[in-house]
Amino acid sequence: MSASEIKDLSRLAIHTITTKGWTLEQCVENFSAAGVKGITVWRQALEGRSDAAIAEAGKRIRDSGLSTVALCRGGFFPGKTEADRNKALDDNRRAIAEAAALGAPLIVLVCGAVPGIPLEDARKQIADGIAAVLPEASAAKVKLSIEPLHPMYAGDRSAVNTLGQANDLVEQLGSPWVGVAADVFHLWWDPALEAEIARCAKLGALDAFHICDWLSPMADMLNDRGLMGEGCIPIKKIRGWVEAAGFNGFNEVEVFSHRHWARDPKDFLADIVSSYLKYS
Ligand code: ZN
Repeated sequence: MSASEIKDLSRLAIHTITTKGWTLEQCVENFSAAGVKGITVWRQALEGRSDAAIAEAGKRIRDSGLSTVALCRGGFFPGKTEADRNKALDDNRRAIAEAAALGAPLIVLVCGAVPGIPLEDARKQIADGIAAVLPEASAAKVKLSIEPLHPMYAGDRSAVNTLGQANDLVEQLGSPWVGVAADVFHLWWDPALEAEIARCAKLGALDAFHICDWLSPMADMLNDRGLMGEGCIPIKKIRGWVEAAGFNGFNEVEVFSHRHWARDPKDFLADIVSSYLKYS
């Protein structure tokens, strides 16, 4: 199943980290002027703001015609001591309060991994951590969306590395407030991807779809992502699978790139829009 062509920007969202040289207000103004319809707000862009100021920012986003797609990010549940794990829970509770103030329907979870903690233990701590903050999430009506990360990050960023694992966690936790954020950068290589996308949607858990591209060679495993069309991810094919499964939410452009961050953000934004229309 291949995706229909993208004809307009009605489903284009951009993560604030993609244009991280801009403040949240500059992102809102420039995204909106470019015809972008959605924004995913990274917590760095909210740093130092009270709940009232975050609510004000949420209003500014809505007034500009943009939808707040998500707050990025919570997670990082595993820890070597109970104190470390409790600290992570507090931070996730804070993220839930921020999402509620902002008007974001979901929080993307980068679940965490810690060198020295065996992956199976980290995975148990992740499940326990999500379960521990679920009461706050459901009370605030904020969904927690597990983002599986590419296995190259299993050492220190996430012990959840495939969509299949994320789906298993969703099933295990059994709450309508737990779902999944699917990112082509992390998942494109997986031979089970099409089947797991269908399974995720059947679980009612396919909450978000992130796009960018995979460069070969990659200069930096974190901050050398490509713009759509610059690399080898079959983005259109994967979008086709996601849409065939019933997903009709935003296509969120999430690019961490020293190369692109060094450019004039206005030029970069113009390239995001054109590569979105052509290669997504
Ligand atoms: Zn992502």
